[in-house]
Amino acid sequence: MSADLRNGNSATTGWDHSVDLLIVGSGAGAIATGIFAHDRGGKVLLIEKTHLYGGSSAMSGGSLWIPNNYLMAAAGVPDTPDEALTYLKHITRGAVPEEKLVRYVAKAPEMLRYLTDRGHLRMQSMLTYTDYYPEAPGGKPGGRSVEPEHFDARQLGDDFDRMREPAVQELVMGRMSMTATEAHHLLARHPGWIGLTSKIMSRYWLDVGGRMKGKRDRCLSLGNALVGMLRRTMLDRQIPLWLETAARELVVENGRVVGLVAEQRGRKIRIRSEKGVVLAAGGFESNDAMRKQYLPNPTEASWTTANPGNTGDAIQMGLALGAGIGLMDDAWWGPTTVVPGEDRARMLVIEKGLPGSIFVNKRGQRFLNEASPYNDICKAMYANHTAESPCVPAYMIFDATYRKKYPCGPFFPGSQQPDWALPKALKAARYLKKSNTLEGLAGELGIDAAGLKASVARMNEFARNGKDLDFHRGESLFDRYYGDEKVQPNPCLAPLETAPYYGIVVYAGDLGTKGGLEVDASARVVRTDGSVIDGLFAIGNCSAASMGPTYPGAGGTIGPAMTFGYILACEQIGN
Ligand SMILES: Cc1cc2nc3c(=O)[nH]c(=O)nc-3n(C[C@H](O)[C@H](O)[C@H](O)COP(=O)(O)OP(=O)(O)OC[C@H]3O[C@@H](n4cnc5c(N)ncnc54)[C@H](O)[C@@H]3O)c2cc1C
Repeated sequence: MSADLRNGNSATTGWDHSVDLLIVGSGAGAIATGIFAHDRGGKVLLIEKTHLYGGSSAMSGGSLWIPNNYLMAAAGVPDTPDEALTYLKHITRGAVPEEKLVRYVAKAPEMLRYLTDRGHLRMQSMLTYTDYYPEAPGGKPGGRSVEPEHFDARQLGDDFDRMREPAVQELVMGRMSMTATEAHHLLARHPGWIGLTSKIMSRYWLDVGGRMKGKRDRCLSLGNALVGMLRRTMLDRQIPLWLETAARELVVENGRVVGLVAEQRGRKIRIRSEKGVVLAAGGFESNDAMRKQYLPNPTEASWTTANPGNTGDAIQMGLALGAGIGLMDDAWWGPTTVVPGEDRARMLVIEKGLPGSIFVNKRGQRFLNEASPYNDICKAMYANHTAESPCVPAYMIFDATYRKKYPCGPFFPGSQQPDWALPKALKAARYLKKSNTLEGLAGELGIDAAGLKASVARMNEFARNGKDLDFHRGESLFDRYYGDEKVQPNPCLAPLETAPYYGIVVYAGDLGTKGGLEVDASARVVRTDGSVIDGLFAIGNCSAASMGPTYPGAGGTIGPAMTFGYILACEQIGN
């Protein structure tokens, strides 16, 4: 940042463009904020650094964690603001000012209702997807997470081509999309799963117009559906979004942020924003240097599943103005597998809880409940990581029975995709390690054989008794969501006893980082001394997460990004 900008001496003339509210980024939080501000009479502009809009929000599951939402009421699932607050206070353990939690609980349902009533947002209740800590005080066995219904991409016209594609792990055969509810139905093989499979296949292949254009599914679900619905709402209002326009420097006048300098296809432009600038530019997960500086080590940018455009720019711009930062050593963690030839890591969401697999460290020892929320897995990896007992990376071990029945990373169950049918490139890269003995597998992975044999023997005993005496896998209702209900007495435990044995490397990955600029309950960025930087706002992953070090349930990242955007638009542009 140049000295004249920092000292507030910048010229008040010479602006290339002027708006009421400038929003940096184009994820769900950014777009929703643009809609709210526009509807309150503001002239709004969104700028996006990359050539695609949607950010990680478009790549995501698209779920929103909204306690006490109207869909719960409609489905007869009881919830109250008090219960939600009790839950949030319990799981955040004093790390988040109560005022922020109170505002979230009050405003999130209102935000959801607004976008549904006044826009194209159509969400459905995830009635069996539990809060991540359903047994905690105020926790719920389902309903607080909502996910998008399908959305027809044709409603976006050509604009669809400029939306970021879903994460590869969310597509069947790299092509077909389905909702999380549909995916769970198929995975659990609930009655009707065969009919659902053929419905998804025919939906895709019978879209002749779509197939003539390419392989991208136009029946959107998950994050693409969420961003599609929001983008359609934005298009209705003709709110401008400039792609390939990167925010570079904030401009300050008389101590107030009044705009910024952006780089648009190699050209510098100055954009004035009367009501301030909203930073919604994501975290720093794709910035390897920032990861190594702030996150626990070891860490690599290649371990993230999130958007490559999220390189911490907004955090750096805020820091240059003296903003405070928080939670920089934290992320929306999740164990990932790095598949050769794929440009993003895949998160092991389903695999980790299914029976017949374990996670071990380099000594071959288990050190966590593999079925616990993905955020907690990586926290346990780092908490247990020592020079004598490295846990980052860890290793997922499974046997032939698991391989036959369940998916793993890029592979379908062996019953549908046997080993001989695995892609040649992955065989050549020796991505999936395999051996007829546990000793042999340990050798392939470079881990301790005696430790692995002992861990497997102990797990096998737990599986027979249905009780994991070491880490309590399968005891929480959350664990069992991704278990196999046909396996009893514990749907998350089965012995590993059928050769060959398999293993893959598991990294401490993430869905995005959660550290960023410190904000108050109105999303205003504050300095290290707590004073407000006038005219500067931050939402989403460039702000220190309003959920603190925890993850309340599916949708716990995008729900707050959109809700604090709602709060700030109401306050800054008028109710
Ligand atoms: C596979 C996957 C599944 C997930 N599932 C869920 C889920 O179901 N529910 C949930 O709540 N969360 C989920 N997440 C996490 C969630 O997607 C992110 O936490 C969230 O989208 C972050 O929102 P954001 O607005 O901060 O950033 P983003 O949505 O990533 O948007 C930030 C945008 O800012 C742009 N940008 C960066 N720098 C600049 C700059 N200098 N100038 C202009 N633009 C810039 C980026 O290119 C990007 O487009 C998932 C993530 C992944 C990867």
